[in-house]
Amino acid sequence: MNHNLDKSYQDDILIVDDTPDNLRLLSAMLTKQGFEVRKALTGQAAIASALADAPDLILLDIKMPTMSGYEVCQQLKANPRTEQIPVIFISALDDVIDKVKAFAAGGIDYVTKPFQEAEVLARINNQLNLQRLQKQLIEQNRELARSNRELAQFAYVVSHDLQQPLQSITGFAKLLLLKYGADLDTTAHEYLNRITDSGNRMQRLIQDLLSYAQVDKQAELELLDCNLILEQVLDNLQSTITEKNVTLTYVPLPKVMGSETQLIQLFQNLISNGIKFARPGVLPAIDISIEEYPGHCLFKIQDNGIGIAAENLERVFEVFYRLHSTKEYPGTGIGLATCKKIVEFHGGEIWVTSELGSGTTFCFTLVTPSPLL
Ligand code: ADP
Repeated sequence: MNHNLDKSYQDDILIVDDTPDNLRLLSAMLTKQGFEVRKALTGQAAIASALADAPDLILLDIKMPTMSGYEVCQQLKANPRTEQIPVIFISALDDVIDKVKAFAAGGIDYVTKPFQEAEVLARINNQLNLQRLQKQLIEQNRELARSNRELAQFAYVVSHDLQQPLQSITGFAKLLLLKYGADLDTTAHEYLNRITDSGNRMQRLIQDLLSYAQVDKQAELELLDCNLILEQVLDNLQSTITEKNVTLTYVPLPKVMGSETQLIQLFQNLISNGIKFARPGVLPAIDISIEEYPGHCLFKIQDNGIGIAAENLERVFEVFYRLHSTKEYPGTGIGLATCKKIVEFHGGEIWVTSELGSGTTFCFTLVTPSPLL
């Protein structure tokens, strides 16, 4: 690739060699190709030059008298100001041990003396392009993280600010019913009921959005006993469990590293989905099992409900993705997206297996502490 085609500035290369003839040769070759070239005759001079102004790449001779190329490279890699600079070693022909040591010291490539111009240029351009792509990736990642943070902040602010007017709407609808209910006809009552129902649904949507947006805000992970988490969840769901006659089976659960509120949310969302998406005429049965591995635990929450068709398995974790109308099954479509965000925030993975008409199993992993904790 022509080195001058894909950028507007000249790449700055530092050549380090104790032999002036080699320096001159390489320097002339690179200057001719449009590179900006700096030279250093010793390792010390090279480090000083790189620290003063980091070059885009360093060509570094291995065998130098006072300080070897390995030592120079090690020092550059140990300093955060110079660690990113790619170093290509210049080695004597076919010195196998040198090359191994060179990579161990942090070099990324090598060229051998006597030089072949085309090879040297190809290796330099290759590394410069890699370096450029890597910088671009880091920049894009930073940008992505920033816009994600902004989006979460936006979702949070909007959801938060929507709550106030919504409370006024449902509050006044209630007041209207309370004060003037006796004077209103059935149509007016129906309208008021609709306002209240829609308001309640919107309230749930806002609550769900708020918890979705807040997942990565709580950064503190602590050692938690999942048995206590489950106990809390079952307590929260007690009335639904009794009302729907749910059969619940589970094994003793491990301790994990986690955020208490988030793990309660995770277990509660999955268990309540298992109850909600029951098959008509079939009593819901939920089974919680685990598989323990070094460093993590796999949790399985299995139900005997309506199941999910294979083509929809991936999409159920998307925000607002629902397979049924709210009339059939109430909900906002944010629960599983929140579960995914929670599990990933905890360093785990979540997936689902299912058979339409016979049941669904949600699987997720959480990090378990080392045996010393
Ligand atoms: P919600 O429950 O509010 O609709 P979720 O994000 O929790 O939203 O779930 C998204 C969709 O995935 C649900 O609408 C439903 O279609 C499907 N789903 C989730 N859990 C189950 C389950 N246990 N069995 C069958 N379908 C499920």
